[in-house]
Amino acid sequence: MPGKNDILNKLSIQDLPLRGKRVFIRVDFNVPIDDNLVITDDRRIRSTIPTINYAIDEGAKVILASHLGRPKGKVDPRLSLAPVARRLQRLLNKEVIFAPDCIGSQVEGMIAKMKEGDVMLLENLRFHIEEEKNDPTFAKALAKLADYYVNDAFGASHRAHASIVSLPKLLPAAAGFLLKKEIEYLKGAVENPIRPFVAILGGSKVSGKIGVLGNLIDKVDKVIVGGGMAFTFIKALDFEIGDSLVENDMIDFAKNIMQDLKKKGVKFYLPVDFVIAQEVSPGVETKIVTSQEIPKGWKGLDIGPASVKLFSEAIQNAKTIIWNGPMGVFEIDAFSRGTTAIANAVADAYAMTIVGGGDTDYAVHKAGVSDSITFISTGGGASLQLLEGKELPGISALSDKK
Ligand code: AMP
Repeated sequence: MPGKNDILNKLSIQDLPLRGKRVFIRVDFNVPIDDNLVITDDRRIRSTIPTINYAIDEGAKVILASHLGRPKGKVDPRLSLAPVARRLQRLLNKEVIFAPDCIGSQVEGMIAKMKEGDVMLLENLRFHIEEEKNDPTFAKALAKLADYYVNDAFGASHRAHASIVSLPKLLPAAAGFLLKKEIEYLKGAVENPIRPFVAILGGSKVSGKIGVLGNLIDKVDKVIVGGGMAFTFIKALDFEIGDSLVENDMIDFAKNIMQDLKKKGVKFYLPVDFVIAQEVSPGVETKIVTSQEIPKGWKGLDIGPASVKLFSEAIQNAKTIIWNGPMGVFEIDAFSRGTTAIANAVADAYAMTIVGGGDTDYAVHKAGVSDSITFISTGGGASLQLLEGKELPGISALSDKK
């Protein structure tokens, strides 16, 4: 029986005879766009270029579709994919036809005029509420546009939406290069790590990372916890945490997981000092204190220098490192040093290093070390779901290899 997220048993874009065919490629172009409609980070667009270029070179008629933001089924000009079409055109150095909608007779007419190697981007899928509702009629309307379906939208593959799970059941459906790469790295690291295998978890909440801790406990050699989630563990050890972030309903879970880690011989590291402040804002007074002495009225907002040293030493001899979640409120410079230092330590390790999407990938870029990381995932929620050992619906929906 094939295992979970078994991408090797699914059709790949290279298995499809693309010449002259209309190929619908679901991408994740959900990029940040500022008030002046300027794309502030185009990495998600760049990372799909190998798949798009392959389809162009094979002579396909390339139809790209994505969501952007949360328009909740209404047309919102600020969430139009038009700026993405312009950026893609520059990146491909080739015309990108922009369709005013993602379904309907006008779009079908435009596609009928496409030639081999032409590229079209459809308008935001989420302008139709049916996309998020996984509506079968909407999926059929999308299927009318194409001969083949390719999923290269790793960042959306954990969502049971029409273009992710229903559409691939209606057409021969294959994985694109980005999707394959994401799965191979994230799944490969967890299932066959070169040891020592170290997991670094941070970010705001324990509740968001329970599944990851639960899944990794049998696989890792060391777990390092920083960020806001560390305080729930520190409180579980009966230390004062002042006004730091805490999830009181997670304290028992934190106690149990620490016991389990101990029983299994997994080394567990918590911060030993913190940068504290009374408010989470730039320019406020800060102090460095040990983790046993955070006063009332003060919050721990970054790991301190002794924790950086402790964590960096724990990372040093690792051969596989997975990192998900910042060590502090890194968006504010005064609380970003811990995250930057850990980014450097991860980058310096002679290891396979995998950074889970969202905030952590931004932190790694901010630290200027992204080129020294083996693999940076483009999907936050999807990469967490993989690390939790769960099936991604977008992958199971693809056609099996014959
Ligand atoms: P997550 O989405 O759970 O990975 O959390 C990322 C967020 O955690 C970032 O926006 C950080 O600002 C925040 N964060 C990290 N450390 C802390 C902390 N010590 N206190 C409050 N928020 C934090």
